[in-house]
Amino acid sequence: MPRRRLASLLLVLAIGHAHAADGSTDAVRLAQQALIVDTHIDAPSVLLSEWQDLGKLTPSREFDYPRARQGGLDVAFMSIYTSPDEDQRGTARQLANMQIDAVEALVGRHPDKFAMLSSPADVERLQAGGRVLLALGMENGAPLGDDLSQLARFHARGVRYITLAHSASNRISDSSYDRNRRWQGLSPFGAQVVAEMNRLGIMVDVSHLSDAAALQAVELSRVPVIASHSGMRHFTPGFERNLGDGLATAIAAKGGVVQLTFGIGFVNRQAADNLQAYFDAEAALDQRNAAARAAGKPLEDKAAFDKEWERTHPVPATPIEAVLDQIDYAVKLVGIDHVGLGSDFDGVSGNLPQGLRNVADYPNLIAGLQARGYPDDDLRKILGGNLLRVWAAVEAGGEPSKP
Ligand SMILES: [Zn+2]
Repeated sequence: MPRRRLASLLLVLAIGHAHAADGSTDAVRLAQQALIVDTHIDAPSVLLSEWQDLGKLTPSREFDYPRARQGGLDVAFMSIYTSPDEDQRGTARQLANMQIDAVEALVGRHPDKFAMLSSPADVERLQAGGRVLLALGMENGAPLGDDLSQLARFHARGVRYITLAHSASNRISDSSYDRNRRWQGLSPFGAQVVAEMNRLGIMVDVSHLSDAAALQAVELSRVPVIASHSGMRHFTPGFERNLGDGLATAIAAKGGVVQLTFGIGFVNRQAADNLQAYFDAEAALDQRNAAARAAGKPLEDKAAFDKEWERTHPVPATPIEAVLDQIDYAVKLVGIDHVGLGSDFDGVSGNLPQGLRNVADYPNLIAGLQARGYPDDDLRKILGGNLLRVWAAVEAGGEPSKP
């Protein structure tokens, strides 16, 4: 056992099993030994709206240092998220940079606990001393604007994947939630974005995209692509935000990886229907408000709309088995080498399955998969091995930047 693993095991023993104890001893051991990569944690945007020191135990959040160590999390992709609203207001690029600043400040405040990670080759070296490594994934390509050179700038800041669109179609791509299919897939600019991301070594993320856009991205990319946080549509028929079998198979055939997500809205059929209905209702509200604005009439209040929606659409309690079923199904469909984890912690308003509520809980997931017969070697692939393989391939496929 390498010394840092021994140290982390002792840490777990020292801080007790208050949370991870639900997972069996075997699962806790594997969580500490295996490399765990989670490709979607929304801590940065929450840091800007309500700052907390995530180097310390922060029970109101789903990601912090002590619980990351307790759960065995090694590489956490921090989501640099901007909304379609920010895009329209022209503030997305500034906000993305501020979120990256916030992640850098967290690392700067606790250089003994965190390090920025920009290459899979640096994992082992940077982990020394028990650090949790923070990589950057950008959710929504809005901060690029229509300026291709922004890709190199964000790459230089550490961004290593980009989810091309979020909940509305943008300059780059159509979105699964948006009924308005502006481009019937990717835009001409979107095709340029994919090529430049390939060149720079930034992973193309097809989560959130329409089926047409995602398939075009898979076909256009010279290197494997990822879905950073998606579910399998098999369990949520008609919910385009999750991956259909054909799309998941295409991602795997290209050598990529499907990172399965934990939020109830993605793994529970009723909740998924509600989520799509929410985005439809929100788009209708936006249209009514645009008309009201043009007519000089008062606007409907978005916060009140959201509150009423939550009251009338309670989120169904969902067991951890719903996530285990997703993983099982995906592994059988696309193979053990093409499945991983992208939780969406801090991004789904706490609507998470029982036993999978924060970064201390990976052992519970591991225990569930062990009970279903997954051997350690297979689990290591799902927990992080597959994602690191794809990241390394994308990095190697990039060309050296121009002098
Ligand atoms: Zn998302």
